[in-house]
Amino acid sequence: MSNPPNPFGTLQTFASDGATHRFYSLPALEQAGFPVQRLPVSIRLVLESLLRNCDGRRVAEPAVRALASWRPDTPRTEEIPFVVARIVLQDFTGVPLLVDLAAMRSVVQRLGKDAKLIEPLVPVDLVVDHSVQVDVSGTPDAFARNLEIEFRRNRERYQFLKWGMQAFDTFKVVPPGIGIVHQVNLEYLAQGVLSTGSQISNLKSEICYPDTLVGTDSHTTMINGLGIVGWGVGGIEAEAGMLGQPVYFLTPDVVGVHLTGALCEGVTATDLALTVTQMLRRAKVVGKFVEYFGPGAAALPVVDRATIANMAPEYGATMGFFPIDAECVAYLRATGRTAEHCALYEAYYRAQNLWGMPEKGQIDYSQELELDLGSVVPSVAGPKRPQDRIELPNLRRDFFRAFQRSVTENGFGKSRAELGKVVPVSSNGAYHPGGGGSGEPVSQQGAVAAGTNPITEREMVLNRPSPDSVAAPAPQVKGKIRHGSVLIAAITSCTNTSNPSVMLAAGLLAKKAVERGLKVNPVVKASLAPGSRVVTDYLKKTGLQKYLNKLRFNLVGYGCTTCIGNSGPLHPAIEEAVTKNDLITAAVLSGNRNFEARIHQNIKANFLMSPPLVVAFALAGRVDIDLSCEPLGTAKDGTPVFLADLWPTREEVRTAMESALKPETFRKLYANFAAQNPKWNEIPSSVGNSYEWDRQSTYIQEPPFFEDFSLEAGPIAGITGARALGIFGDSVTTDHISPAGSIKQSSPAGKYLLENGVSWADFNSYGSRRGNDRVMTRGTFANVRIKNLMLDGEEGGLTLYFPRSGTASGSVGAGSGAATAGEKLAIFDAAMRYKADGTPLIVIAGQEYGTGSSRDWAAKGTRLLGVKVVVAQSFERIHRSNLVGMGVLPLQFVEGTTARTLQLDGRETYDVLGLDAGLKPQQNLMLRIARGSGEVLDVTVRCRIDTPIEIEYYQHGGILPYVLRQIVARS
Ligand code: SF4
Repeated sequence: MSNPPNPFGTLQTFASDGATHRFYSLPALEQAGFPVQRLPVSIRLVLESLLRNCDGRRVAEPAVRALASWRPDTPRTEEIPFVVARIVLQDFTGVPLLVDLAAMRSVVQRLGKDAKLIEPLVPVDLVVDHSVQVDVSGTPDAFARNLEIEFRRNRERYQFLKWGMQAFDTFKVVPPGIGIVHQVNLEYLAQGVLSTGSQISNLKSEICYPDTLVGTDSHTTMINGLGIVGWGVGGIEAEAGMLGQPVYFLTPDVVGVHLTGALCEGVTATDLALTVTQMLRRAKVVGKFVEYFGPGAAALPVVDRATIANMAPEYGATMGFFPIDAECVAYLRATGRTAEHCALYEAYYRAQNLWGMPEKGQIDYSQELELDLGSVVPSVAGPKRPQDRIELPNLRRDFFRAFQRSVTENGFGKSRAELGKVVPVSSNGAYHPGGGGSGEPVSQQGAVAAGTNPITEREMVLNRPSPDSVAAPAPQVKGKIRHGSVLIAAITSCTNTSNPSVMLAAGLLAKKAVERGLKVNPVVKASLAPGSRVVTDYLKKTGLQKYLNKLRFNLVGYGCTTCIGNSGPLHPAIEEAVTKNDLITAAVLSGNRNFEARIHQNIKANFLMSPPLVVAFALAGRVDIDLSCEPLGTAKDGTPVFLADLWPTREEVRTAMESALKPETFRKLYANFAAQNPKWNEIPSSVGNSYEWDRQSTYIQEPPFFEDFSLEAGPIAGITGARALGIFGDSVTTDHISPAGSIKQSSPAGKYLLENGVSWADFNSYGSRRGNDRVMTRGTFANVRIKNLMLDGEEGGLTLYFPRSGTASGSVGAGSGAATAGEKLAIFDAAMRYKADGTPLIVIAGQEYGTGSSRDWAAKGTRLLGVKVVVAQSFERIHRSNLVGMGVLPLQFVEGTTARTLQLDGRETYDVLGLDAGLKPQQNLMLRIARGSGEVLDVTVRCRIDTPIEIEYYQHGGILPYVLRQIVARS
């Protein structure tokens, strides 16, 4: 093996525990003339990756120079090629990535090569956490029954994952029932410092480097609380990272948040996270790094830092980073990492001059903000957005205001007169899938207005009864509900369940409530879904779990549950009362997002809060209450009980905490967890290096990305005679392009599933079927809210189909589309006709095309429909790069040009001119448009292939063929 690169003479040594290690030294780079020491810590960690990977191919020296010369206030034009150390995946996004790897192995095998050539080049950990749903709650066996149902629903996907585990050396799976990806990452996967190089023929062979990662879940940022650089990306970028390619991102501004003071008695880390979210949303940190520093940051334990870092997507930042210090190594020790590793960790960061929380004036930030932790007060956020923080005493008032505000002002548009309405609920527990009996699942009756609140990667709308739910008869409910009633109270989400201080506070509050004889109203669906089994361990050791159980906060699962919308069905009698009376009811949860319909399809007001407040509001049973002065219940002796009577003191929490972070507990629970999960072991798995595709499967299919694959890429081909598949307006989201939620029976995907013997009750969601391109391609542009301007903005995934006519240049009878009005078809059906005709497709769009959460299928589905070009007024950054990553050409209209100014109506044909003449990043090209009338006009467009490496991706038909050809060529 060749010696590693040594740019700027930075390959140096450092000592730890008597051993010598090598590293790429940032102080040495400083000596080479770069002012590294004043750079934000997060920038320095990315810079280390550039130095270490500076091989002139993936990372060139100018990129190192550019980042080492980062200035706080210069215009941001350069993309950073960031090679990450590892990848984390959750199961919804991880399954399609494994499908792609399996497909690459199949191709390699067909080429007569060893399938093992395809192997992730950096370690990949997939945590199965997104598939558990709260079907059963409030009973001692809820966890076991939910796990049983989860395994039954997802058996096929889990079989596939088990194949992946044995087939790849660097692909590991944390099975279901263990925890939530970000908490498992914090408590177990993250090492803080990594090392490599055992094959290098040199005595001092080991090279140490910072733990960095990207993950396919936006809350990957939680790991920033442990001084680790990482954030959420789309599947295509994760795939690139997995295959050793850089993840590209625009050089960021870095906003420094100077924390001072300390949290007051009675204030939690959740209150702080909600305060920071509101403050940073207002400060407009979208697309920027946020870095916390100062004495307040130094005093926060890692678990509090992680809660704040988790919510970076909610405040809009790429990261919410805390630098590395003694708290970090203390956390690593407390969670069972070895003494030797902790010593190496500290020695490495000291050698890099990265040890210790920076103080004011030490670092040049693009902007500095101040927050005195002593000013933080108990808070909740809602009813629809995480940044809408409400001080606890104001919740009653703010709920009433939201109740009467118009919908356009983020309210519920109700009249004051309706407030008094009370609806009795009574049921003997009979349970009927479908609830309303309309024949369409509940979740499909009220589709989300994706244009306003796009469902994200994690927002699967699964809270509908399924055949499995029938096996779980609902308990009797009898009570009254009204506007403001709490129907879901969920201790959920890695945001908070990774933080023992708030989890123990919830248990302590439950204990005091039970001791006073308080109960939770039976209409409230209470649940406890921690992000790891460590939580159960300490809640049991402290004796607090039994009090939570008495209030029906029984364990329901170790997974994402209510945080992602997997809150499961409500009792049908309650659902009926809510929907028939259009009640504005509430969910209270310790999660991080609360867009309407995210938590439950029929619950409109959703409030984020700390776990102890979740218990308190479950007891109160309503949100129109001022807990600072109104009692939340009546004790068994008849006296009113106030929140202040139940709230645990800091001392009580601290005492309980002593049992929470025991290294041996972490070591035991994270040792061989696969063996501790009999259900996982029972799942049969195929073996072998390549996957035997089951053509009958409706979950896993070999994707056609490598159809007609050849070892040579060939020149970039011109595009002629393209037809518009859709003409869209502004802010088309990735959820419009590739919906994640439920599948309509009448949609192409629904028909496909029915034809393949899947009943609608078993449709599951698009999210869970991302391993099957047949479903996903049919689902592309199938969102019920997408408006195609070719059909005067009619909603639904429809378009006009025109039989083949020719090129815009007129070579084959241009403009004959004028002769027909076009046939109205589902977009998938039209795309297949165009494919049969040999007609390439184009999509025309407005501003911010592909906004919303990054979703690989938005680009993959576009490509598989046969779309060669997307022309937009502007693109969302990640979706643009994903399009290139899938071999689709993004073009941008020049300022002032739109589909409207061009008077496009869908009858046109299009040629893209200039592609074959040595395409350059961002060069201008000509879009030749032939109208139905025969008129031809030429429009200048900018090619949004932005970097040289993207030109290569595009020429190869996307990242996957590009990497595959490289691997095969090297073999
Ligand atoms: S608990 Fe919520 S934030 Fe955490 S991984 Fe799951 S969906 Fe994402």
